[in-house]
Amino acid sequence: MRARLPPALLREPDGTEVASILRACVHCGLCNATCPTYQLLGDERDGPRGRIYLIKSLLEGADTGPETQRHVDRCLTCRACETTCPSGVRYGRLLDLVRPRLEAAVPRARLAKLYRWLIRRGVPSRALGLLLGLAQRLRPMLPAVLGQLVPRARAAGSWPPARHARRWLALDGCVQAVARPSINAAAARLLDRRGQSLVRVPGRGCCGALAYHLGAHEEARSHARRNIDAWWPEIARGAEGIFSTATGCTTFLQDYAEILRDDPAYAERARVVAAQVRDASQVLLPGDVVAMGLQVNDRVAVQAPCSLQHGLGGAGRIEALLVAAGAKLCAVADAHLCCGSAGAYSMLQPALSRELRARKLSALSADSPAVIATANIGCMLHLEGAARQPVRHWLEILDAAAAAPELAPPA
Ligand code: SF4
Ligand code: SF4
Repeated sequence: MRARLPPALLREPDGTEVASILRACVHCGLCNATCPTYQLLGDERDGPRGRIYLIKSLLEGADTGPETQRHVDRCLTCRACETTCPSGVRYGRLLDLVRPRLEAAVPRARLAKLYRWLIRRGVPSRALGLLLGLAQRLRPMLPAVLGQLVPRARAAGSWPPARHARRWLALDGCVQAVARPSINAAAARLLDRRGQSLVRVPGRGCCGALAYHLGAHEEARSHARRNIDAWWPEIARGAEGIFSTATGCTTFLQDYAEILRDDPAYAERARVVAAQVRDASQVLLPGDVVAMGLQVNDRVAVQAPCSLQHGLGGAGRIEALLVAAGAKLCAVADAHLCCGSAGAYSMLQPALSRELRARKLSALSADSPAVIATANIGCMLHLEGAARQPVRHWLEILDAAAAAPELAPPA
């Protein structure tokens, strides 16, 4: 795509990167075929090719109004278009680079700004945990429509002591730490069985993805710096790396090098940390499942999060782990399409998000699964809000199999 970008933009640190991403797009439109919002709305401006064109116009200095913002806001940043694109257009990166410019070019109404600020500050805060705990206690008294919005409490169970020489550092994250502490505890128990420990270090927290994808880049960098400070002493002492159990967070942690590359105090450490980040599905492999003798007898439908498929290039990984445990996999149509969770999307675009969830649940339920497996906390909570089947992280499913009475716990 030919873009006449102003020389001042090309001199900025991100200017040449933006220009090269735009140049890579050849207008073929193949990406529209796998774009969930284009499929729902049928408007060229709600597909990747149209959005790239709108972004190009913005950067060229065209008069940009709320119309451009509306179509860009509707994008899930699911990156299905990247997987489809034959020209390797880094659409997600383009959007990340452009969002702050769009925010500056088209100021939002005061109430909308406040809402976005509350999401950014509220979700990673300690207040969320307190509120959620209270809501879970009151859940039985709430009307059904409100009760649905409150994730059910699930006991985390025991966390094995750090007794192995091989140590991974846990990312607790923000929402997952309060809504589903059972996921990291399950990971710690499974790793322990494989002779590795998962340890929590004080000071770590939200990965920063939520703020970054809402255009608050400096806020996201603060989260990244805090996590690097928390992990660095353990990395220097020889920890294996950062172990993430939420694919949405994994993809962002692996971007730390990119987002802190212009920070002289953190660039090098960010590069080292990013290189040591692993998703749980990259550490626990099908061979481990077989070696542990895990047996899952259920019919399982897998919801592969976009961050796993399109961000980490890990399509099929969860399925392989569950098959290794003997699970019967259910057929799921359109597995590449987003469930509508997408970070803060369900709060910012509730109607589109609900429609995408309804379609995803219909695809997941078609082959009569007993349980839905996922790999990302956001998708899990979003699907749980309307699913007829239980929704579990694959780590929880395997951990439950490990706890079966016939499998004696390790000495
Ligand atoms: S598939 Fe790639 S090259 Fe073709 S229009 Fe979409 S982004 Fe551009
Ligand atoms: S990121 Fe997802 S929603 Fe956005 S343009 Fe690409 S495919 Fe469509």
